[in-house]
Amino acid sequence: MIQNVSSSSGPQVEYPREIPIHELIAQQAFQSADKIAIVAGDQELTYRVVNETANQLSHYLTQQGVKPGDVVGVALDRSPELILILLAILKTGAAYLPIDPTFPPQRIQFMLRDSAAQFLVTLKADQDKTDAHVSELYVEDALVSASRFAKGALVGTTSGADLAYVLYTSGSTGQPKGVLVEHHNLVNLLWSMVTMPGISKEDRLLAVTTVSFDIAAVELYLPLLVGATLVIADTPSTRNGSSLLGLIQRHHISILQATPITFRLLITAGWQHRLPLKIMCCGEPLSPLLAHQLLDRCDSLWNLYGPTETTIYSTGKQILPTDQLITIGRPIQNTRVYLLNETQQMVQENCPGEICIAGDGVARGYHNRPDLTHEKFLPNPFASTGLLYRTGDLGQLTTDGEIQFLGRIDQQIKIRGYRIEPGEIEHALGNLNGIREAVVVAREDRSGTPRLIGYLILTTSLTDQDFAVQLNQWKATLKNSLPAYMIPATFIQVERFPITLNGKIDRKSLAAGPNLVGDAKSVGHVAQLAAPQTTSSTNRWPSIFTWLKRIALKK
Ligand code: AMP
Repeated sequence: MIQNVSSSSGPQVEYPREIPIHELIAQQAFQSADKIAIVAGDQELTYRVVNETANQLSHYLTQQGVKPGDVVGVALDRSPELILILLAILKTGAAYLPIDPTFPPQRIQFMLRDSAAQFLVTLKADQDKTDAHVSELYVEDALVSASRFAKGALVGTTSGADLAYVLYTSGSTGQPKGVLVEHHNLVNLLWSMVTMPGISKEDRLLAVTTVSFDIAAVELYLPLLVGATLVIADTPSTRNGSSLLGLIQRHHISILQATPITFRLLITAGWQHRLPLKIMCCGEPLSPLLAHQLLDRCDSLWNLYGPTETTIYSTGKQILPTDQLITIGRPIQNTRVYLLNETQQMVQENCPGEICIAGDGVARGYHNRPDLTHEKFLPNPFASTGLLYRTGDLGQLTTDGEIQFLGRIDQQIKIRGYRIEPGEIEHALGNLNGIREAVVVAREDRSGTPRLIGYLILTTSLTDQDFAVQLNQWKATLKNSLPAYMIPATFIQVERFPITLNGKIDRKSLAAGPNLVGDAKSVGHVAQLAAPQTTSSTNRWPSIFTWLKRIALKK
């Protein structure tokens, strides 16, 4: 492992760069043919059944017209069928576009159009949800028709440089953007995870994530790559701590990957005793409190870090009870992290810089967004080839050579593990009749949970009552285009935004104040205003304070 003042490298490791992920899983399926690969409720599928059914489905998809290089939308909940379909799409040589079926139709439509997907695989119950011009294929029909096809694999020509999936993340300029991830990006990550945090044939991993989250690929493929067992949690159980705890115990789960909110849910539901569990915590900062709570309850705890653009995880480490500082560890295999200043120079020792990532995880770029790709994926100035992805995260190297995560440089927010660009919500708000300008920030409620607040400048100022009525209409409209987690819980009507000394909207002071009397529990009531909490010299709250109106309404 090499390291200098402001860069750190993971080990250089050989991996099957040219073999696509579905072929590696098929190889494992031959070795572990009669072993249980997938468990969901009382359903169990062996490796042989998984591979042969995925082969049959790939013949069916080919017959329907799916070709190598196509993009196929998949709007399915976590289920054995989801995995079979994803593997089948990859086996045809196409890439998939994962879609959370609960997303609003306009968002699904945008993703299908933008990615130029020709097909959408979904359930009959979800048919015709969008008017995007795609051919819909229903899982129910596909499974019946597929049984008529051969169980052998299609002759594949997919290489490691071909596209595996297009995953849409929130976009700051108003629309989500599709990250293009190649097979070798994914294979490098999974190969790395076999040793860090480690997984073996004996492991049983519980999948709890929606397919549209990049970490779903780890849950779905990592166990199948090594001959372990994948247990699929039903959606109601993932939302209820006691049910989830019950599942973990009943199914003898040995690995669980989730964002901090899921672990808090388990602890709040009464998880007290130690379980033989390897925990992979990801997606958001792991607080020292949560780390200590988890260390008391599990076998081992790992903090994993990375953006979708560098394929799920780029750094990680095991957190030990003796750790004074929770860091995001060191780069994974074939990955290098640089800490850079605004002019893309490495920062001095002990100085914070933007976390920039190079190596085999760096994705191809954004689909159809050369401008943004150019801005975020630079030719690596420290190497003769390859790209460097600018994460927008701030980090610093510790004296031990680990990377300490220090927050965001820009406005990106994480809420319940969801990556949110306030600009996308502001754009949607700005398109509503009656709103002239909007600023969205996150603010922690009394329990420490971040919530979105939308500050609005209206074209005509409204009374509290009219504002409340209007808000209900706006929220109903927003639900057509934004997922529920992107709709602010609270809206505040202001005449202008506070401005920093250098003339920018003072988002920090908007996030810090005004000090609203009442918290999330007061939804539905007009809250009182108290003095702002911030004492920042750039805070100009008092000037707009007297006429600021706040109404919190139920989502
Ligand atoms: P996503 O693309 O949804 O995976 O979000 C990536 C972003 O989540 C990163 O750029 C970080 O801001 C944040 N993030 C991911 N993992 C961690 C972690 N372990 N600790 C702190 N922040 C994290």
